[in-house]
Parts: sequence; C-alpha cells; structure tokens
Amino acid sequence: MSPEWPSDNLDFLTPEEMRLRLMEAQEFSSRVNTLTELSLKVDAARSREEIIRILKDNLKRLIDGECAFIGLLSHNKTHYVISTLSPLMDAIELDHKHFSIDVGMPGWSIKNKAGIMVDIDSAPSSHPTLEGKLKDLGIRSMIIVPVLTHEDMLGALVFGSSKPNAFIDPDIWLAQLLSLQTAIALRHTSLLERAQKRAAQIGLVNQVAKKLTSTLNIDELLASASEAIQKDFQYFDVTIFLRIPNGRDLVLAAHSGNFIDFLPHGYRQKIGEGIVGWVAEHGESVLANDVSLDARFLAHQYHNTNSELALPIVSDDEVVGVLNVEDTKLYAFDDTDILVLETLCDQIGSAVRNARLFDEIKRTNDRLVELDRLKTDFVGIVSHDFRTPLSTIMLAAKSLLRKEVNADRLREYLNIIVDQAGRLSLLAEDTLSIAKIESGQLSYQFKIVNVEGIIQEAVSMVKISARHTFSSSIDMSCSYVRGDQNKLRQVLQNLISNAIKYSPAGGQIHVSVLPSEEHPEDVLFSVSDDGLGIPEEYMGKLFQKYARVDIGEAGKIKGTGLGLWICREIIKAHGGKIWVDSEVGKGSKFHFTVKRGA
Ligand code: ADP
Repeated sequence: MSPEWPSDNLDFLTPEEMRLRLMEAQEFSSRVNTLTELSLKVDAARSREEIIRILKDNLKRLIDGECAFIGLLSHNKTHYVISTLSPLMDAIELDHKHFSIDVGMPGWSIKNKAGIMVDIDSAPSSHPTLEGKLKDLGIRSMIIVPVLTHEDMLGALVFGSSKPNAFIDPDIWLAQLLSLQTAIALRHTSLLERAQKRAAQIGLVNQVAKKLTSTLNIDELLASASEAIQKDFQYFDVTIFLRIPNGRDLVLAAHSGNFIDFLPHGYRQKIGEGIVGWVAEHGESVLANDVSLDARFLAHQYHNTNSELALPIVSDDEVVGVLNVEDTKLYAFDDTDILVLETLCDQIGSAVRNARLFDEIKRTNDRLVELDRLKTDFVGIVSHDFRTPLSTIMLAAKSLLRKEVNADRLREYLNIIVDQAGRLSLLAEDTLSIAKIESGQLSYQFKIVNVEGIIQEAVSMVKISARHTFSSSIDMSCSYVRGDQNKLRQVLQNLISNAIKYSPAGGQIHVSVLPSEEHPEDVLFSVSDDGLGIPEEYMGKLFQKYARVDIGEAGKIKGTGLGLWICREIIKAHGGKIWVDSEVGKGSKFHFTVKRGA
C-alpha cells in the first residue's frame, strides 16, 4: 500500500511514524533534485528525438512505474503519435502508432486539458488498442498529464504501474512539472528545427534554381529539377507532369525517388483525375497528409502512399504542369514544404517558358535555313527551266533563218516557238507571282469570267502535245464565275501543265466544271489525268511551298514545288478551296471551287 502524502497533524505521530515521514520527505526532495537535473537536460536538447531519449533514460528515477510513454499531436491536431519511454512497452509494439484524439486516455487528457490519476478499469476513456494492450502488460493504475505551453497543446505524458492505486499526489505534481518543462523544450526545438529547415531550404532553392537555368532542353531541365528536389530536400518520391498542349492528358515528364520503377516513362493521367489531375484542372495546390481521407486520391495497388502534396506549375497564367511529392508516412508535409515547393514551381514555370520559347525560335530558325536552301535550289531550277524553252526557241528560229523551208515545216517550227513561249510565259508569271505573294503585293481584278474562255486560253498556252488527249465539259449552270480572269487561267494552266508533266504519253486529261454539291453557290472545277498518281503520304502537304514528291518516277521530273502553292494562294483569295484525290499508278484529280458568276 502506498504511503499517504501529505499527512495530518505531526504532534500525534509516534517517533517511528516521524522517522518514516522524514524518510518520505528526503525521498521527495531527492526526486525534486532529479526533476531539476532532468529539466536542465531536456532544456538543452536540440531536437524532439533527443528530448525523447533523455526522458527515456531518466524517467524511472522520477516516477516509479513499469511503463511510460508520450503521445505527441500531429500537425493538424487530429491524431497523436506514441513514443514509448520504457523498455517494457516494446513488447506491445505501440511505438510510432497513430491514435485519433477521440481515442484513449491521452486523447481524453488532450481534449480536456487536464491531468488524472486513475485506476485503468475506471478510466473515463479507454480503448482496446491502447489501454487494452496496457492491461495485457499488467498495468493497473495510470497518471496522464497533458503536455502544453500557454499557446499550444502538444500531447500527453503517461505513466503506468502494475500496482493498483500506485500513485499519490506528489507523483502527479512531479509529472505535471516535468510535462511543462518538456512542453517548453519541445516548443523551442520545433521553432529551432523550423528555422534551420527554412534556412537550409532557402539555400537549396537557390541551388535548384541555378540548375534550372543551366539548360534550355525541357526534358533535361525537368529531370534535373526533379532529381535535385528529391535528393536535396530528401523527399520520398517526386514526379513532374506536363500538360499535353491542347489535350486532356498530363504526361509524366520526370520522376525521381522510391516509386520510380512503378510508373512507366510517358505514363499519362487524365486532367481532372486523381489529386494531380485535380491540381491541373483547378490550378490550386492540394495537401493531403492522409490520402485515405481525400476522395480525389487515385489509389495505385503498387503504391503505399500515405501523404501527397501536389502544386500547379504555371507559365503565362496557364497551368502547364504539376509538381507532385509523395511519402509513405502520414503527415509527411507541412507549410514549409508548400512554401518552398511553390517557389520552386514558379522557377520551373519560367524555365519551361524559356525552354519553349527557345524551341520555337530554334524551329523557326531551322525552317528559315531550310527555306533558304530551297530558295537556292529554286533559283537553279528556274534558271534551268527558263533556259530549256529559250534554247528550243533559239534553235527553231535559227533553223527558220538558215534553211529554205516549205509551208509545213514553217508551221511546225512556228508551233514549237509558240509552245515554248507559252511555257516561258507561265514560268515568268509564276515566278513573278511568288515574289508578289511573299511581299503581299499580288493584286486581283474581280469580274464575271467566262469559264469556257479561260479553259481555252489555258489550253492554248499550255499547248497540249500530240502525245496527250484533252477534253472538257462544262455544266450549263456554270458558264460564269466571279474572279480574276488571269489568275484563274493561271491556276488552270498550272493544273493542266502538271497533268501533262506527270502523265506518260497517251494520257488523257479532262477538265470538268460542275455545280458544287456541298455549296450550291460554288462552282467546282476538276482537272483529272490518268498519270503517275501521288503517294498517300505526300497528298496532305503538296500545296505547301516547295513541296514535291521526291521518290519514284515523279522524283525524276524537274520542278520547283511552287505551282500548287501559287494555285492555293489564288484560290484562297477567291474564297474557295483546293484539294486533290489521287491513287498511285491510276491518276490524279485536282479540284477547286470558286463563286458562281450569274
Ligand atoms: P512542280 O511540278 O514544279 O514540282 P507543283 O507545286 O506544281 O510543283 O507540284 C508539286 C508536286 O505535286 C509535284 O512535284 C508532283 O510531285 C506533284 N504533282 C502535281 N500535279 C501532279 C499530277 N497531276 N500528277 C502527279 N503528281 C502531281
């Protein structure tokens, strides 16, 4: 049976009782000394772990009992986490376990801000997973005191004994004094740790920022950012997702840490799905320190994530990606992490913008270099194209001058001259058009144009050789169109001369003019041949500047790749469309539309 303390009137005590009281007083004063020593040590500690170790080593001398532990509140104060302070407790594996503050006597003490000495069976709040386990250890009575400073509730300190009613008032006083010292020391160390963490983080932010400016390649940049963030800040796992431009997906762009083997490179996540998808959609950060409580969390069978912090990466007011950190621990992240990672997200956002701008400039530059090369080729081809008809004309003219020629011969030579002059004139016209289109100086004269007239004009200028046959058909309702007569003739001339150029001898060329089925106010022109045809992969780009088929028979025929581009520009100015249907070996059919004239 424990001694009672303090006692009644000393005058009535026997000498034996007096001796006992004296001994008790001496023992109490020695415990107060122990408390003072312990308080000094706790006060000098630099970390929470050190405080717990000091308590563990010294408690037995202060309060006699078989078990002791401290339950410290989590950041959001909904749970407390146990650190055992006596070896006996190792058997019931309570160390590092989380309990809701609605559970157990530490929870009661935290919620009521009160200490209590109690028999375990009559405890006002007990739970099988905590007090039940203590009972298994044989614990009968307990002291529980809250650990709190003026401003802050930090947790509860618990002592247990296998004896019933083992504790007396001096025990609870000592426990309360100790818990106050512990609370002050814990608060100091947490302020110290925070200040140290911030100072270290500011240094690290600078280091990571330096790495971000060291490259303009996006992949390299994000890989080095995720690696630096994970290693330098010791995060369990770091992922960086990028938004696919104009898409509804995010793609995993960089990954460092412990889950690296679980997510394949190029893994995609839908915008709006999971915490990462939510952040991409809403542009706001999410801190889920217990993911099981967050409905947005997307559980992966292979992950044992418990905490997740995801932040948007913004560039030019647009969410371009998400930085995501995960941990297997509960409550792994706090305000400092948010602050630091937000700063880093800003840096990543501007680094991504710089890298993208650089990419764009590089692409434009590559395109300019390519255009420059094509222009040089073009000059070569054009001068060749000019020279061929010119020398044919010269030859025919010289023959006419030199020889005595009969009427048939004369006709033949003149035909050649007219034919080649037509080629020259189209070439000159096209070359001039290119320069004018490029400088925005091509001018149009719109009027009502007779369709049959421009077809005849084009055919006469192209001069269909005897090796090809030509036919045309015009629907009665399409005799007139609205447009620039010369330009429309130029388009037809280009298409007909291509049809001849890319068809072997014996080919048939047909021009048809019909009402457009799609838009009744439009007239549809089609120029068809049964020549080489166009491979599928080239069809989409043929109307671009300098585009040519560079394989097979077509690749052997010389050309500038500009005729169709000029046609497209002219038809565009007429508010129409131009396109092609074709099959290799069977032939091609080029179509364009212009507005009906009357
Ligand atoms: P060019 O004929 O000077 O190369 P174009 O812009 O007129 O330039 O034509 C672009 C390319 O389209 C040609 O190089 C050729 O490969 C293909 N092409 C044009 N018309 C036809 C056609 N009727 N049949 C087959 N291929 C054609």
